[in-house]
Amino acid sequence: MFLKAFPSGPLDTNAYIVACPQTRQAAIVDPAPDSYERLIAFIQEGNLAPVAILLTHSHWDHIADVKAIKIKYSIPVSIHPLDAPNLKNPGADGLPCWLDIPGVVADRLIKEGDVIAIGNLTFKVIETPGHTPGGVCFYCSDEGILLSGDTLFKGTIGNVSFPTSRPDLMWESLRKLSLLPKGTRVYPGHGSSTTIGDENWLSRAEEVFG
Ligand SMILES: [Zn+2]
Ligand SMILES: [Zn+2]
Repeated sequence: MFLKAFPSGPLDTNAYIVACPQTRQAAIVDPAPDSYERLIAFIQEGNLAPVAILLTHSHWDHIADVKAIKIKYSIPVSIHPLDAPNLKNPGADGLPCWLDIPGVVADRLIKEGDVIAIGNLTFKVIETPGHTPGGVCFYCSDEGILLSGDTLFKGTIGNVSFPTSRPDLMWESLRKLSLLPKGTRVYPGHGSSTTIGDENWLSRAEEVFG
């Protein structure tokens, strides 16, 4: 798999491009503020064919450039139904938006166990509510890769004090991720990558962060 992170915007949010080397099909994950130009340049240079925009959740720093990318490539936007309202009306979640972000209506509502094909790659949707109600991770078991959004960072977890956060659900979500193979490489919404094995506190996250 091709995978590249594009830390972008005031919170250094990681936008990602993941692509299938055989078919050149690609997905754009979490197009963060000011990621548009670099994402497009990378797609053009790599001769990639974008087929999907995948969103781990609807916080403004993960969705700012969704509309621009969607218009540019006419590709569908996937998000969990519980985070779709804030994609449509950014700020509906009660978080102050630092930027003026255009709303987007989701094309595909994704839930636990859904499988998304990008060329020969398949990503399974793992529901990980807690940071937001409709937070998800995208797991490619063939490649041992997890896109974890703001659920899991290297050494820590996403904020659970926001208006729509639920700490109790977050502990369950992290326990779920602890069951993935230890070698799974984790690409988070902020900061550098890690592995499930390195985050050996996942099954007792409440003790550590509660
Ligand atoms: Zn977030
Ligand atoms: Zn974030």
